[in-house]
Amino acid sequence: MTKYIFVTGGVVSSLGKGIASASIGLLLKSRGLKVTLQKLDPYMNVDPGTMSPYQHGEVYVTEDGAETDLDLGHYERFTGLTMSKDNNVTAGKIYYSVITKERRGDYLGKTVQVVPHITDEIKSSITKLAKTGSPDVVIVEVGGTVGDIEGLPFLEAIRQLRLELGRGNSLNIHLTLVPYIKAAEELKTKPTQHSVGKLREIGLQPEILLCRTEKPLSEQVRQKIALFCNVEPEAVIQALDVRDVYEVPLMFSQQGLDGTIIRLLDLPPGREDLNGWRSQVVERALHPAKTVRIAVVGKYIQLQDAYKSIDEALRHGGLANNAKVEVKKVDAEQVSKDGPEAQLGDVQGVLIPGGFGHRGIEGKLEAIRYAREKKIPFLGICLGMQCAVIEFARNVLGLAGANSTEFDAKTPAPVISLLEEQQRVTHLGGTMRLGASVYRLVPGTKAHEAYQLPEAAERHRHRYEFNNTYREAFEKKGMVFSGIYPQDDLVEVVELAGHPWFVAGQFHPEFKSRPLEPHPLFRGFVKAALQRE
Ligand code: GLN
Repeated sequence: MTKYIFVTGGVVSSLGKGIASASIGLLLKSRGLKVTLQKLDPYMNVDPGTMSPYQHGEVYVTEDGAETDLDLGHYERFTGLTMSKDNNVTAGKIYYSVITKERRGDYLGKTVQVVPHITDEIKSSITKLAKTGSPDVVIVEVGGTVGDIEGLPFLEAIRQLRLELGRGNSLNIHLTLVPYIKAAEELKTKPTQHSVGKLREIGLQPEILLCRTEKPLSEQVRQKIALFCNVEPEAVIQALDVRDVYEVPLMFSQQGLDGTIIRLLDLPPGREDLNGWRSQVVERALHPAKTVRIAVVGKYIQLQDAYKSIDEALRHGGLANNAKVEVKKVDAEQVSKDGPEAQLGDVQGVLIPGGFGHRGIEGKLEAIRYAREKKIPFLGICLGMQCAVIEFARNVLGLAGANSTEFDAKTPAPVISLLEEQQRVTHLGGTMRLGASVYRLVPGTKAHEAYQLPEAAERHRHRYEFNNTYREAFEKKGMVFSGIYPQDDLVEVVELAGHPWFVAGQFHPEFKSRPLEPHPLFRGFVKAALQRE
């Protein structure tokens, strides 16, 4: 029988529920249990695909082409598992489904209500995961903070589900904040008590508390939290700030969190094996032999989470090369204002991430020209690859005004243009070329050297594409097409002959990089950057 762990959060947002859930996933998996994870998001968007990175941070794309919450990225990176569209459920998706059924007449004359229809739909989205792959444990993370109005149907569904599952078959792990008040020189437990009180009002009693804190909890504080929140003292886990997020699972394991979960859920105790994680991830992250500085030139740089998977994949590339990657976030518009030398003169590598819309494009083109001419290692991702093509068209082929039709519909040289199947698309949500497809690598190229494989599956999220009518002209001037999607003869990777490392892909390699398995392109890129003084 599948057991469930519901992870909720209280007091404030941004406590790191996603990292905590992912860490629990890793701990249970390392005990030999079969786990999966799910994120419940209480917002009304059907998926985050239509949201601005300013609102939401990165949109994470799964192998099966779902546009999802970035927590699924944490789940995949920590556990090495592959998530699918069913692993992220939003209120929008739930309502959409209920309303579709209502219009079809499925409710046979009934009044359709939040309870039971919405809550039933939520419950069936949760239990659906147990039906595919029969996991031992499903870890369900509830987005938002306890007390949010929009989270209520989700918590009510969980309350009902816990009752239906019966004692010992589910857990509620609640993440809370224990703030340190400087003036009093004390850790304060009241916000935690209130937040657990709020949960109890809804009918949920957490069995385990993860207390985010800047200072270690004294025995006295731990006892107090246990007593007032009605949990066992050993189930009060302190979640101190760590030097590196990949330390979180080790920190939890030291306090016996996995043992407590296994005991409370009556699961087979299997011996924990975190050796690989400890030696290949945490030790390397904490003790790198060298440092390399890489610029990410984008337009959402103020927001910490906008390029989450890219930041992580760069770190993985560092782990593979025993180096710490220092990411310099550069505002593309600033490159236009100050010139590339001022912004990029001190970096050993330049990365241009994906993006949409015209703003910042000219700055990205200048950054690419600088990297190309100064022979600085370059990695272009999706829009970054399209910009590399535009820059080459303008400055090497001499095609003035060359552009993507996304930015200039009347460009005289549409080197990037709309995919044919995209030309009739009218709706923005979920209509891009999405998810993984297998492409062929051309032997003798930098990309092939990085992967050491004849083909690779990579995830996509785009509408525009390299325009094949220009292929020959580009090749003549030294652009190499090193990755091709054979079915439709689409360009997947471009690189430059005569440059130490200039590679750009139409897909998102960052979504497939794992700390234990750094992505070949990030590994190769960081390696090349390290070779530059
Ligand atoms: N805007 C571009 C397109 O739709 C690139 C998308 C991206 O970078 N993810 O093709």
